[in-house]
Amino acid sequence: MSKQVKNSKRKAIFPPACGCSSYLVHWEKATKEKRPAICSKSGCTNSVDVGAHVFNCSGTSTNSLKVVPLCNRCNNRTNQDCFKLNKGVKIPSASKLSSC
Ligand SMILES: [Zn+2]
Ligand SMILES: [Zn+2]
Repeated sequence: MSKQVKNSKRKAIFPPACGCSSYLVHWEKATKEKRPAICSKSGCTNSVDVGAHVFNCSGTSTNSLKVVPLCNRCNNRTNQDCFKLNKGVKIPSASKLSSC
């Protein structure tokens, strides 16, 4: 099953409070992976522009802010629809991590 997420309505704080130079860097540190070449939204073939803030769609009140590599078009705060991610894409927490 692919994960489903939706954009966060809030504008991301920049630079990230955790000390990373960007949320893409934060994603790389959190996952210990290189950023993907293309956007993580399933079916999108644009190149990655940002580490976008998203929420898990199957989430509850404990749902916390996550980071996922997206293109500028998919990182749309006014779009609250759930969308699927490519298989295997990791969605680490946006808050400060031990690896930051
Ligand atoms: Zn960080
Ligand atoms: Zn995209």
